[in-house]
Amino acid sequence: MTVEPLIFELSSPGRRAARFPAPDVPDAELPSDLRRESLEWPEVSEIDVVRHFTRLSQKNHAIDISMYPLGSCTMKYNPRINEQVARLNGFANIHPLAPEETVQGALELMYDLQGILGEISGFDAVTLQPAAGAHGELTGCLMIRAWHHERGDTGRTKMLIPDSAHGTNPATARMAGFDVVTVPSDDRGNTDIDAVRELVGPDTAGLMITNPNTLGLWDEHIKGMIDIVHEAGGLVYNDGANFNAILGIARPGDLGIDVMHFNLHKTFSTPHGGGGPGSGPVGVAQRLADYLPAPIVVRVDEEDGPRYTWQEPPKSIGKLHGFNGNFGMHVRAYNYIRMHGASGLRQVSEDAVLNANYLRARLHNDYHVPHDRTCMHEFVASASRQKKENGVRTVDIAKRLLDFGIHPPTTYFPLIIAEAIMIEPTETESRESLDYFADCMLQIAEEARTDPDMVKNAPHTTEYKRLDEVGANRQLNLRWVRERELEPQAAD
Ligand SMILES: *Cc1c(COP(=O)(O)O)cnc(C)c1O
Repeated sequence: MTVEPLIFELSSPGRRAARFPAPDVPDAELPSDLRRESLEWPEVSEIDVVRHFTRLSQKNHAIDISMYPLGSCTMKYNPRINEQVARLNGFANIHPLAPEETVQGALELMYDLQGILGEISGFDAVTLQPAAGAHGELTGCLMIRAWHHERGDTGRTKMLIPDSAHGTNPATARMAGFDVVTVPSDDRGNTDIDAVRELVGPDTAGLMITNPNTLGLWDEHIKGMIDIVHEAGGLVYNDGANFNAILGIARPGDLGIDVMHFNLHKTFSTPHGGGGPGSGPVGVAQRLADYLPAPIVVRVDEEDGPRYTWQEPPKSIGKLHGFNGNFGMHVRAYNYIRMHGASGLRQVSEDAVLNANYLRARLHNDYHVPHDRTCMHEFVASASRQKKENGVRTVDIAKRLLDFGIHPPTTYFPLIIAEAIMIEPTETESRESLDYFADCMLQIAEEARTDPDMVKNAPHTTEYKRLDEVGANRQLNLRWVRERELEPQAAD
């Protein structure tokens, strides 16, 4: 007999974890179109719920457990003080439809955050509405399109995007109606400026560039490329996912970039992914300010002091998010920025860059680093040598790291590097934790030489071994459904 662990199918009719107090307002009938015939809830007791979520949290890696050097994602520590501030009653329990005069503090915070993000990045106006970086990209692309159309320039259908770009760049450009033209990279890891010169023309809507780029490098020709695109009548979008490398050091707006998104959940320490909703504010140069999504927060100075209110920019592309974006993330990011101040933010970037270069220096003799020059906040190594000599691939190294309790770096991205291992330690790792990671990577390189099967069969110590990742993606099974309670399905 095999005993199956109690994992998901815990529902039993009549069990409950909570009882709500009797309502202190009169009962009202819900409109019938808002009502469902039945509600598919699992029926479980409080201890079942607590154990379920505690167990799930233990199966996942988290930044609160150990290092999470997932390149491009900036998995820095999420300070607890952010959470305390976001939970303040006046922030957490307000309603987006509350009358303006009752939520002046929240509006002031949003107004200040718009201004601070603009100041850090060199942009004239900022919207806080987009829900994540990709959403910000779409916002930016729609504004670029609206700007050209407003001037009667409707033949600009092409968006230039480097081959090192994150997949969201071509995806959002396409969603905004542009055709994507891929720009190659040069042998120093820059976007190829000569190719940009050849590709621009009267059909160019713009260039969507990532600087610092996804190889973790500052593009050496960024200024020249911006000028070429502007001279051809296009606008320049900067994917700001890598902003953590340049806070207080360089401002994209000063370089002549027209529009850029911020990932508050990367650069400004608000939680990622399953940890909470993201937030992808967008900053623009003056000429795009009128096109921002509506509404934005403005300040009106009156005799008895300032008042904050909503305003629709005159040529707004409209609304991109219900209400005003993920306000809880605005609070966390605002708190993080104010806690650090100007010099503290610069220190963040200096430490992030130092940590990445430290790891690069510790690893570059044992792993191939295709563009082995001073990097920004991350760098891209490769397992091409291990693959050629011992048949050990990047995925094997990533799985082996799990045995050491470390989340793997980003793998197989950017696409232009074979067997890519993209490492971003962030500034919140100590010297000791950087050394632990480097030691593990060096040991794995040694194992690849002496005992390759051990690496190829990793992980060895985790609860689950290699998973069918394609199956997990295609047949997501995240939600309890009642049939499974009635007819237990064979475990597959
Ligand atoms: C994370 C990332 C994005 C997308 O941002 P999301 O907030 O995840 O939507 C885009 N480009 C790059 C380079 C990124 O790292």
